[in-house]
Amino acid sequence: MSDLPDSGAARPAPVHSLDTVCPTCQGNHEITVSKLSVTDDVGMSLSGSLECPQCGGEGRLTGFVPPV
Ligand SMILES: [Zn+2]
Repeated sequence: MSDLPDSGAARPAPVHSLDTVCPTCQGNHEITVSKLSVTDDVGMSLSGSLECPQCGGEGRLTGFVPPV
């Protein structure tokens, strides 16, 4: 009978581990980008969301990553 202790180190790390909230998207998983396009002397501001390129949409970075 296998009676393994429940405190093994192989368990997945809890959410509050040494992760860092992504400084690029601040944990929002995506970033807002604004583009300025000018057409016939009329300026338009286009905004949209992109998946955060730094964390890949995770909203956090694995391990401690100091802000740059
Ligand atoms: Zn991010």
